[in-house]
Amino acid sequence: MHIPNDVVPLIYDTVKLVNDRILTGKAGINILVEQGRINENTARDFIHIRRRMIDGKRFTRNSSAYITEYFLLRIKKDYGHDGLERALKSLKLHIEYYSKKRGTKLNKLRALYEAYSLKTSYSEKVDEQDEIIAQLKLHKLTREQLIDMLKQLKSKPSSKISIKGERYSRDNFTIALLKILRDFKCQICDTSILKANGSFYIEAAHIVPKRDRGEESSSNILILCPNHHKEFDYGKVENLQQIDERISFKLNGRLVDLPLLIE
Ligand SMILES: [Zn+2]
Repeated sequence: MHIPNDVVPLIYDTVKLVNDRILTGKAGINILVEQGRINENTARDFIHIRRRMIDGKRFTRNSSAYITEYFLLRIKKDYGHDGLERALKSLKLHIEYYSKKRGTKLNKLRALYEAYSLKTSYSEKVDEQDEIIAQLKLHKLTREQLIDMLKQLKSKPSSKISIKGERYSRDNFTIALLKILRDFKCQICDTSILKANGSFYIEAAHIVPKRDRGEESSSNILILCPNHHKEFDYGKVENLQQIDERISFKLNGRLVDLPLLIE
């Protein structure tokens, strides 16, 4: 059944009360039928969908991309990043199940899933890197000490690093150190982007991608501005050579030659 967009907040709020056992299922369904003008079965479907999204489990009823996105955003607000991750897992399982069962592609839901998984994982990483950078700045470490940390990280087998009781991913720690040591400047064009809060924005690009077992170290990570990062990822990269802590390659026809060593 078609559901007008302006009813969607009422659906979410009511279903949440049922999921939280503040309302009985029957009372919730009554509200949705009377005030939301949706039928009983559809009301029941939403109770099922939200419950499963919260638990990170597969749901079997389908709903529109608009409603699904609204649910994802509200779940993120209610349960934070972990909640959103669980809801995305649940959505993925639903897409696999439902598209197989009905022989449909569910392109809109797939696009939604892709967009939100990229957004959360990437922005979460950058947030953690910024936190580490802030922590490291508080400690007023010398360049030598930072380089030393970078070397130690390389040989650490654990994937989590603790500072003052906070645990951070080793990969984000390595990138945070590299951003500081490279002075937040693009290694190709020297650009840095000043943010309103006085800190700098810069990106990290893997030479050998992580999915191809690329290492998390200074010899496999370039610090690049957003433009050069995208050009490196999507442009034509030729004659890539890495010799003695130097890397050279042709990027869309232009020669790039960079030192990888940090001194
Ligand atoms: Zn650049």
